[in-house]
Amino acid sequence: MEKRDAQSQRPSRSRSARYSLSALLFCGECGRRLQAKVMRPARTLQWFCFWAKTIHPEVSVQVSDRLATRHVRAVINDLVRGREAAMNAAAEREFYRAASVATDQDVRGSLEREFDRFSRKLSRLYDMRTDDEIGEDDYREKRAEYIAEQTRIKAELDSLRPPAPIEVPDFEALTDLDSVWDQLPTQVLRDAIGALFPRIVVSRRTESSSNASASDRIECVGAWDVARLEEVSQLA
Ligand SMILES: [Zn+2]
Repeated sequence: MEKRDAQSQRPSRSRSARYSLSALLFCGECGRRLQAKVMRPARTLQWFCFWAKTIHPEVSVQVSDRLATRHVRAVINDLVRGREAAMNAAAEREFYRAASVATDQDVRGSLEREFDRFSRKLSRLYDMRTDDEIGEDDYREKRAEYIAEQTRIKAELDSLRPPAPIEVPDFEALTDLDSVWDQLPTQVLRDAIGALFPRIVVSRRTESSSNASASDRIECVGAWDVARLEEVSQLA
């Protein structure tokens, strides 16, 4: 089930990607997809937010394909290098998560038994009323009391939401990707990058950030970082 959730976050496969970052770059200002443009005379590839003119005319968002690609690859290499630490941290978080899920399950079990107990009391009460063992007023009063208890239990059950599973990058895929990067056909490379980073958000170039500090304005949002992915997807 977790697999399917991760899958749904991925952009649909583009069958005719011309560039390794096709449809993966997004504007940090308006959330829209950046468009590619070949610049003359050097024929360098640039990515632009074509909506800037109408939506945020005071801020132009653009990045060269060379810089963006180099940054994505650097992020992947950093992730691979930090693999052991990330796996350990994830294992630790998963341990605590599993423990809290187990506790919730215990609580859930006892609440469910409690709920059933009131169901049995209600049916016994109904029998007593049918056999005229108790009066109508007592019946109504008891019945209201039991139903109120069940409502309270139901609310407690609803409040038991298990925490989301810990997501970690697919390290095998990361390692493989780096080693075959230059040999992959554009389409395959593009889909592999898209599977890791469904959204790569490019922000405006500030005074202090030059081409050398791509990390300041290019954010590779990992498919495992579901919360951040949702945040940046809501931009548009
Ligand atoms: Zn924009």
